[in-house]
Amino acid sequence: MNPVIALVGRPNVGKSTLFNRLTRSRDALVADFPGLTRDRKYGNGQLGGKEYTVIDTGGISGGISGDEQGIDAAMAEQSLLAIDEADIVLFLVDARSGLIPADEAIANHLRVNQKKTWLVVNKTDGLEEHSAMAEFWTLGLGDPHPIAASHGRNVTTLIDEVLAPF
Ligand code: GDP
Ligand code: MG
Repeated sequence: MNPVIALVGRPNVGKSTLFNRLTRSRDALVADFPGLTRDRKYGNGQLGGKEYTVIDTGGISGGISGDEQGIDAAMAEQSLLAIDEADIVLFLVDARSGLIPADEAIANHLRVNQKKTWLVVNKTDGLEEHSAMAEFWTLGLGDPHPIAASHGRNVTTLIDEVLAPF
């Protein structure tokens, strides 16, 4: 079995963009508005001779506490299922918008989850990495890892590191 990497985070942080890069497919819809990908989407990829499976999710906008309504609830459910199926969770946040309460709500769930979780700060293109990372330390999920999914910045390095134990 390939290691399974779940991409989670609130809408619009760049999960589908990263999914496309990791699977080199156009299967995941990438859009300028939040919440387009409502179901889980699976793709396979390969890096440094290692194969993996990636799960793209619709994102969790209102948190993951179980009181979400309608489509948000469905998306939160998809994310929880993806986390269950994964060996590795990449929790994406957005360096452009900075830390918002929805990120903290998701982090609260991930901190008590047993899955190996990596905090990934996307959209660092054009930003100074060190200062862009600073506020994300407060999430309590360890080192923030800067990437730019749409440019490929640090993506290969991150995935190499993530897959090292497998
Ligand atoms: P999702 O809702 O989390 O799946 O986010 P998407 O992958 O649909 O991306 C949301 C928006 O962010 C799109 O307009 C992307 O082009 C943009 N985006 C994604 N990655 C990056 C990045 O690394 N840098 C910048 N500047 N924009 C990005
Ligand atoms: Mg998406």
